[in-house]
Amino acid sequence: TPNVRPLVAGNWKMNGQRSELDQIRAIAQGVDSGLGESIDALICPPLTLLYVATALTEDSALDIGAQDCHDQVAGAFTGDVSAAMIADCLATHVIVGHSERRTLHGESDAMVRAKAEAALAAHLVAIVCIGETGAERESGDTLAVLGRQLEASLPDAATAAGTVIAYEPVWAIGTGLTPTPADIAEAHQFIRDTVVRRFGGEGAAMRLLYGGSVKPDNAAALMAIANVDGALVGGASLKAHDFLAICRAC
Ligand code: PEP
Repeated sequence: TPNVRPLVAGNWKMNGQRSELDQIRAIAQGVDSGLGESIDALICPPLTLLYVATALTEDSALDIGAQDCHDQVAGAFTGDVSAAMIADCLATHVIVGHSERRTLHGESDAMVRAKAEAALAAHLVAIVCIGETGAERESGDTLAVLGRQLEASLPDAATAAGTVIAYEPVWAIGTGLTPTPADIAEAHQFIRDTVVRRFGGEGAAMRLLYGGSVKPDNAAALMAIANVDGALVGGASLKAHDFLAICRAC
């Protein structure tokens, strides 16, 4: 998308102990030695590493985010963490509605929207994930599913600066499979049209990431597709070498 700075975001999921902070250090170094001039880069480690990761990257252009948040600011929610707490750790982004949260934790579109609203209230950038299952794609329902998820998961107050949309086909996550470039182009064009209709200029400038088996060897081709403004990377974000190669490809 013209005039939109690409974002390459890494989702570490439930991976990473203190020894892997070396990878974050190495990614920060790579971002600060040139890459950060043309792209934004973000790593979302597990919460156990969140505060130390932000401290480690205090002087770096590498951004640090969380993988989920609760929709309330504080309260009797054992085991949960609020967007305000994530912001208090000096993180700047939070992923909401990842398909693993939707399927393994039963998160509905309404819950995802409440989380995105909480993120915006805490001045975090919300990375809102949407995507069809393999069965939905096979039955030709992809765009209907994306339309429904966009409608119900995005807050009315979503802005280009505060909201990123990640299109992640569920069947492409962690499988080594990706949609064809034409299928990705169709999905991203549909998402763009939908957010422009709802949010006008803000929708036109919103970053749309592709996610699902992005690797160093396919990143350049994926990023060349119209309306793909970056990537959400799972497995390949765990190693600095791979993640930086993807950043360079963008
Ligand atoms: C993800 O879970 O957001 C993801 C895209 O995973 P992977 O890159 O490993 O497919």
